[in-house]
Amino acid sequence: MSAPDPAKLSLNTATIREKWGLAQAIEGCARHGIRGIAPWRDQLAAMGVKEAVRAIKANGLTVTGLCRGGFFTAKHWKDDNRRAIEEAHELGARCLVLVVGGLIPGSKDLPGSRELVKEGIAAILPEARKAGVPLAIEPLHPMQAAERACINTLEQALDVCDALGEGVGVAVDVYHVWWDPKLAEQIARAGKDRVLAYHICDWLVPTRDLLNDRGMMGDGVVDLPKIRAMVERAGYAGFHEAEIFSKLDWWQRDPDEVLSICKDRHARMT
Ligand code: ZN
Repeated sequence: MSAPDPAKLSLNTATIREKWGLAQAIEGCARHGIRGIAPWRDQLAAMGVKEAVRAIKANGLTVTGLCRGGFFTAKHWKDDNRRAIEEAHELGARCLVLVVGGLIPGSKDLPGSRELVKEGIAAILPEARKAGVPLAIEPLHPMQAAERACINTLEQALDVCDALGEGVGVAVDVYHVWWDPKLAEQIARAGKDRVLAYHICDWLVPTRDLLNDRGMMGDGVVDLPKIRAMVERAGYAGFHEAEIFSKLDWWQRDPDEVLSICKDRHARMT
């Protein structure tokens, strides 16, 4: 298999969020020759949307996704998702990533929560279409079904896409889907038009924290070249977004070191 194009590396700013704000992350990407960036909305708000748009354009970066909308089982989801769509539009983001939300608070009704998520996405889809912002449902690993996302496989996410039609697709994050026996089949089913983002990192053994112990590419057990081949075979030609939540390791390091290592591992291990 051929090596990945270095120009396709994108930085999800969660990877260095403990030490850098968005302005520093934008400068860091420019300095390291990383061509894509995926900001989080809290940091976007801290920098200001206008200033962020200016700096991202000035440095010629592509916004590979805005993190995040969703949480359709929580209160006030509608206004929050409307704002997220507007921000994604301002940034010219390739997609708005949806972390859809877990169980309805106080309930044990998983199917009901999934139905509510589907209705929530349907409710914001017209505005997203009008704004030209594709919505990317990100299935999360089932260990996060209760608290963060009750859509846990690409198959479930694509069933929602099938039901809702144009303007909604998936974010394929290797951390969440690497274990799925239907991975190849469902990535092929998603196809070129519905794989909206591809997120990379690695699964560490052992995993010490369910949320914040992701590994650097090459340090874990995920067959990254194989999954890249699946998304490329489906027709995806977009960025490879490094997204590493790592309280115990990478968040403690100098972000310039983290970005250098991301570039090297992307080139050699993915
Ligand atoms: Zn992700």
